[in-house]
This record gives sequence, C-alpha cells and structure tokens, in this order.
Amino acid sequence: MDDHRKELLKHLPKIDDVLLVLEKQGLFERTAKEIVKEVGRAVVGDLREHILSGKEDLTEWRMPLIEQVADRVRGRAKLLHQPRLRRVVNATGIILHTNLGRSPLCPQAVAAIVEVSRGYSNLEFDLQQGRRGLRYDHVQGILCTLTGAEDALVVNNNAAAVLLVLNTLAAGREAIVSRGELIEIGGEFRIPEVMEKSGARLREVGATNRTHLKDYEKAISGETGLILKVHTSNYKIVGFTEEIALPALVALGKKHGVPVMDDLGSGCLIDLNRYGLEREPTVADTLLTGVDVVTFSGDKLLGGPQAGIILGKREILRKIKNNPLNRALRIDKLTLAALEATLIQYLNPETALSEIRTLRALVAPASAMAQMARRLLGGLRRLNLAGFTFSLQKGVSLAGGGSLPTQEIPTALISVRSASLPVNKIEERLRQLDVPIIARIVDDALLLDLRTIAEEEFALIKKGFQTFRES
Ligand SMILES: *Cc1c(COP(=O)(O)O)cnc(C)c1O
Repeated sequence: MDDHRKELLKHLPKIDDVLLVLEKQGLFERTAKEIVKEVGRAVVGDLREHILSGKEDLTEWRMPLIEQVADRVRGRAKLLHQPRLRRVVNATGIILHTNLGRSPLCPQAVAAIVEVSRGYSNLEFDLQQGRRGLRYDHVQGILCTLTGAEDALVVNNNAAAVLLVLNTLAAGREAIVSRGELIEIGGEFRIPEVMEKSGARLREVGATNRTHLKDYEKAISGETGLILKVHTSNYKIVGFTEEIALPALVALGKKHGVPVMDDLGSGCLIDLNRYGLEREPTVADTLLTGVDVVTFSGDKLLGGPQAGIILGKREILRKIKNNPLNRALRIDKLTLAALEATLIQYLNPETALSEIRTLRALVAPASAMAQMARRLLGGLRRLNLAGFTFSLQKGVSLAGGGSLPTQEIPTALISVRSASLPVNKIEERLRQLDVPIIARIVDDALLLDLRTIAEEEFALIKKGFQTFRES
C-alpha cells in the first residue's frame, strides 16, 4: 500500500464528527439522524475497503477527510429520497414487457386506484346488507357477464391462480399434463415446480411433440384429481405435432368424472383475429367447451393490473374459494380497483380497444406507427445534435409476456447513430435519465420502436436526447 493510502486510512473520520458537520448543514431536517448515521457507517466502511483494496482512485482526496466524507454521506442520504421504482419509456417494441411492468393501466384504472385508496372503501363490506362482504365479489359479476362463466374468483397473479386450483382439486392426487405443455415462463414459473408445491403429483403423458387422447385416457385412474391443459404461451412446437384440443379433453373428463382445467396464460377477452392478429381463443370460447375451470393473467392481453383470474363451474369455484390458501394469495384493493375499472371498458370492445394501451398497441396499423415515427423524427432532428443521425426504418414488434409468441407485428422504428458516441454509450445514457428510455441495439444502431411509445412521451424522449448536447 502506498503512503497516500496509508495516510487516508489513518485520517478516516469518526462517524460522530461527520454527523456534527452534517447537522450544521441542516441535513437531519430531511433525513433522521439515525438513518444518516447508518449511511455514514456504510460510506466510511466502503471507503476503508476501497483504500485497502485499491479499488477506487483516491489520489484527489486530501487530508483532513471529513468534508469529503460528509459530501458523500449527504449524496447518499439524498438518493434515499428518490424512489427506485420509477416510470420508464418503453421503446423496445415489446408490448407486454415483464421486466418493464407488463401492461400500462388505462386512465380509468388509475383513477379508480386513487379514488378507492385515498380513503376507506367497501373492500369487504356489503353496502346492501350492511355486513361483511367478500373482496372478490366486486368483479365476480362483470367477469361472468363478459365471459359467460358461472362463477369467478381473482387472486394475486396467474401463478397463484394455478397453484390454488391445483391445490384445491389435486393435492395428494395426480394431475395429468401433456409433456409438450410442461412449460417454463420467464425463468421462474415452471409448471412441474408449481405442481409440486401445490401438493399435486405430476402425471406426464405423451411425448414433447405429440400427445394423443388415448395417452390421457390410459393415465386416468382412481388417483386422478385433474386433467390440466396449459397454453404453451411463450413457444410453439411446429412440425410433426399433435396436441389434443380442449373439447376432446373435456369429453374425456366428463366420461371419467375428472375435472378439466385450462391455464390460458394470457386470456384474451376480445377476438384479436378480427384486427389482423393470430387466432387466439377468447376466454368465452374456451368456457363454451364446457371446461371446468380456466385461469389467466390480469396484466397480459387483458391489459389490466397484475392479477390471476379464475373462472369456471360454480361447484368447483366454491371449493377453490373455501381453500385456506386463497387467503394467502388474495388480491389487494389497489389491484381490485384497477381490475374492475379495466373490465368495465370491455363492456364495449371498441372502448376497450381505444382506452387500453396494450390493446391499442397490439392492433394499431403499421401506417399509424409510421406517421408517429415521422413526427418524432422531425422533433429529434430539430434538436440539431452534432454528430447524431436519426432515420426511419421498418421492423417488427412483439406482443411479449408469453402472448402470441409467433406473431410479428409490423412497426416503424427510428434508428439512432452518433459519429462521436458508441451506440452502447447512447443506450446507457438514455437508460440512466430521470425518466429512463429503454431501447434496443441492433447492428450498431439504437432503435426506438414507436409501437410501445405514447405520443405523450415524445417530449420526454426529446428532453432525453437534449442531454447529449450538454456534454
Ligand atoms: C404468464 C403465464 C403464467 C403466469 O402468470 P403470472 O400472471 O405472470 O403469474 C402461468 N401460465 C401461463 C400459461 C402463462 O402464460
């Protein structure tokens, strides 16, 4: 260790002395002394470690160190007041981006959250009868109206929904699933693992690419609790394949008195095929097969908040509602408010398509994207950023979130290049803005996909690029 570092180590100030400096600067008005003390300990600890390891260049540091350490503590204490969870601009073109919060909420859902949560609410209070009610009753009616289901229940998310149904119907028994449907979603939701936690025993049938009805039938025994069909959300097996359609499984279940469940994953309430997208059976179509229970997410194609929706036969839903596990997986009131407001939009599909951003993004024609792109392009070029070139390009967006996995949605992109800055630096700078802009890099260009950008976000994007002028 060099002499300078030895000196630094010797001069590391005592926390209490640092606190005295900060107190004079009025720091404790904003952040309690105890918290600042913790921050101070961490700062001095890090500094000691950096002196010893030579990790940081400390040649600029002059003795005594107290002012410099106090500056660091003040900086870190200030950061504590900035929320880590923040809005971002999604310029990736992945509409249901799980890492970016999946579905943005419609304005009505945002308003409902504020309205219901700023004071008390009738969350579990029946206003007609003046006595205790059930939280999920608020959306039970509208879910049944929109889908034709006999009964409905909502929980924390679809993973919880699957866990709860499996636990209710098949704990200690077997659940039959096709090998081709033993999927993993987003690295953490694996059907076999969820099944194990539910207490159900997995009974795999068929081969990865082909499963026949007779494979299911052979597996049925006195041990069978459930036949499970899983929407293979994020991939498709193509080629020499056979999967058994739901109606045949429902008939088989009926014949043997075994309930049949379909984990739809996305759960689409309107027929997107009419708007040029792949055919994805709607929830209502699925229920028409006579399936006993279906589950899907609130924040995938539905375009609402994170939630798990369970629909199906009254008798089955009664059992699920009475499962004590339901209490641990329950939906919270903010989600419920947002979900109800989102569902109300579906009372007219045209309204849903115009109010719900996820649906809007999915069905907007490429020509509309190109028009938007030209407007943003004009704004960016008018910034006159030295060395930067912006140009229009065609490309494809993705539904994401394990929805419509093979659907490529034609879109318009703005490609950004700079003569002076490498593209990864541009990407990094945009990602670290106050309102971060998340974009992808393809072949040495940064691409902004208009399909996931809202017109109201143009100002933020321009402001973001403006910062390249200042440096
Ligand atoms: C997404 C998905 C899940 C998990 O849903 P979450 O709402 O993310 O918990 C489960 N099953 C399928 C088929 C899915 O696509």
